[in-house]
Amino acid sequence: MSRGHHANSGESKNGEEVTVVGFLGKRRDQSSGLSFCELDTYYKPDVQIVSQVTEGDDEAGKSSAAHTSLRAIPNYSPVAATGILVERPRRLKAVQEFGDNRGPDVLPQDKLWDLKLTSIKPLNEFPKDIIVSKNTVWPPKQRHMQMRFDRMLRDRIRLRDFVTANARQFLRNDRFEEVETPMLFKSTPEGAREFLVPTRRAGYAYALPQSPQQYKQLLMAGGFRKYFQFARCFRDEDLELIDSLSSHSMQLDLEMSFASGKDVMRQVERLMQLISKRLGGAFGYKEIDGIRHPVKASPEQLKEAKLAMRKSPGRMEPDALHPWPRVPERFPVLTYDEAMTRYGSDKPDLRIESQIRRIDDIVTPDFVSMITKLEKPVVEAAQFRLTGTVQENQAFIHKFMDNLPKTPLKLSGDATLACFKPLNGFSAFGHEAAEKLAARKSEHWKKLEHGDIVIVHARRNVRFQGEGWTDLGKLQKAIYEAAVAQKLMAQRFNWGFCWVTKFPLFTPNEPETIAAGEGQGGAAGFSSTHHPFTAPYGPRDFDLLATNPLEAKADHYDLVCRGVEVGGGSRRIHVAEMQEYVMRDVLQMTDAGVGQFAHLLEALRAGCPPHAGFAFGWDRLISILTGVDSVRDSMKGEDLFVKSPTKMTDEQMKAYHLEIRKKSTTFEPVTSAPDFEPSPSAIPVPGDEPLPGSSSV
Ligand code: ASP
Repeated sequence: MSRGHHANSGESKNGEEVTVVGFLGKRRDQSSGLSFCELDTYYKPDVQIVSQVTEGDDEAGKSSAAHTSLRAIPNYSPVAATGILVERPRRLKAVQEFGDNRGPDVLPQDKLWDLKLTSIKPLNEFPKDIIVSKNTVWPPKQRHMQMRFDRMLRDRIRLRDFVTANARQFLRNDRFEEVETPMLFKSTPEGAREFLVPTRRAGYAYALPQSPQQYKQLLMAGGFRKYFQFARCFRDEDLELIDSLSSHSMQLDLEMSFASGKDVMRQVERLMQLISKRLGGAFGYKEIDGIRHPVKASPEQLKEAKLAMRKSPGRMEPDALHPWPRVPERFPVLTYDEAMTRYGSDKPDLRIESQIRRIDDIVTPDFVSMITKLEKPVVEAAQFRLTGTVQENQAFIHKFMDNLPKTPLKLSGDATLACFKPLNGFSAFGHEAAEKLAARKSEHWKKLEHGDIVIVHARRNVRFQGEGWTDLGKLQKAIYEAAVAQKLMAQRFNWGFCWVTKFPLFTPNEPETIAAGEGQGGAAGFSSTHHPFTAPYGPRDFDLLATNPLEAKADHYDLVCRGVEVGGGSRRIHVAEMQEYVMRDVLQMTDAGVGQFAHLLEALRAGCPPHAGFAFGWDRLISILTGVDSVRDSMKGEDLFVKSPTKMTDEQMKAYHLEIRKKSTTFEPVTSAPDFEPSPSAIPVPGDEPLPGSSSV
């Protein structure tokens, strides 16, 4: 008999006596002398405890004692159960009906085990006042209960571990080296608003790194070739508004010296292929409530799943085992302008088959004046072919448009929308234009059929300047998602990875950029779209820095998956003079602002090689993988489990030389105290002198 010996270890045999540890499920008493109880062993497969009082043989006393013990232990308690393993060919129906917390990760073909109980020892007690039922929804402050009772949540966290381990292994095999960089960094205008960490030296603060960007560039200047790190990054963003890499979350951060942006893009593609291969070789998934639940599966099970998928693509039962799709060798590349023109987004969702089309060549001035007050606008159309009847499609789109103000689309005021019903509703176009539109056909625009929906939209005829969406792009995506949710459009899971390149190097500042302390704080009226270390795309773009910087394109590439940015990177400026020129002359940063990057300029000046890099928003990637929308329970940067942030005590405030000048609301982070406004110049940079109680950065 061995302690902690698991039935799934491959060592256990039918008829063997083992001790298995785990959490009891809900006990089911069949009669006074017979009980069943699930034992959640964490590793698959689970074990069902069968406790039966045998009569008249030598074991009677033992089984009766074990039975009494089991019945005395509250459901859900952790136990060590000893008994004889008996293999069951199929899952007992009774188990499915009673106290089943197992989630969908048990396949019908799995081996199942009964454990004929001979003794059981409670290892702690599950309290009576916590009520567990099948439908209990555990709030975020009971994160431990969510994990304990939502097996699927646990499996997703375990999937993250699997993917992380494989990524690390792949990178190491490819001669990447993992280097940890400091967490207490200094305040620099890299782009995002920072979290500051006040010190006990009056008026001094560290900043938490918004990314290890500057450190990884220092590594390249220091002679490292290929660096990676799973790095925590902190950005003090308004979480409701962000739609880019997550604020304080994990990045898989890479940098390569003597490398171009294209080299980095290839490396990232290879990594994603490897991940999809490993994932597809070990797991399938089941789709439940829109979430893909990873299910560990044998090669035979996966083979069967692939065959089933090939036979009836798009028509598999959600609960069936689905194979994970493979990632193609190369990802399509769209420039920023192409993405904005065709998808109305710099995060195009390639699952949307129909692309936005310009139709200002066919619409009449009368029609244009009907839908907009804009002078010479760009008129565009998006089409949808839904699977409902004409009436159903019409009802869907009318309801959608009626509810528009309630959707988070935030359409800007200068755009007007016109919604057309099927073909017979095109009269507003005028006969000729309607005919022309109806006859259009191209790779990404289907010839219109009765029942199709077309949305026409007018926007200002100006160059895209780094914005993330057009109104029509937002609308198209929202309609697509609503139609899929209402099963009016089929959706098959594929990765839909693509690259978006050639972003504008600079984006004009919005008032909010300045108010939030974002950007570089220069006087030019614009900030770096990615960060100020990004190289111009080519010589023409370099020349434009002097003449028309807002026209210059960047050697910046974003990785987009199903309409979500999962990573981004760039080739860096590696020549100190050029970096200083961009900061001082183009962005028009002050001496003090440029001075905050003195360490970087110094490193570039010392013969730094060309280099380029990338960072994945790791949690974003994993959540996309499993179809979970958000990686957060709270959108306020709070941890609802530990209840952070906490209010500082008077002693703490004193030690950090902080003072609250006006009444602040509870849970306001310390950085919002007026003394610590994250204005770079307000906070002196710690000098050479070590700070009391801290290591130097
Ligand atoms: N540091 C960048 C970011 O966090 C990524 C990169 O350019 O490598 O977005």
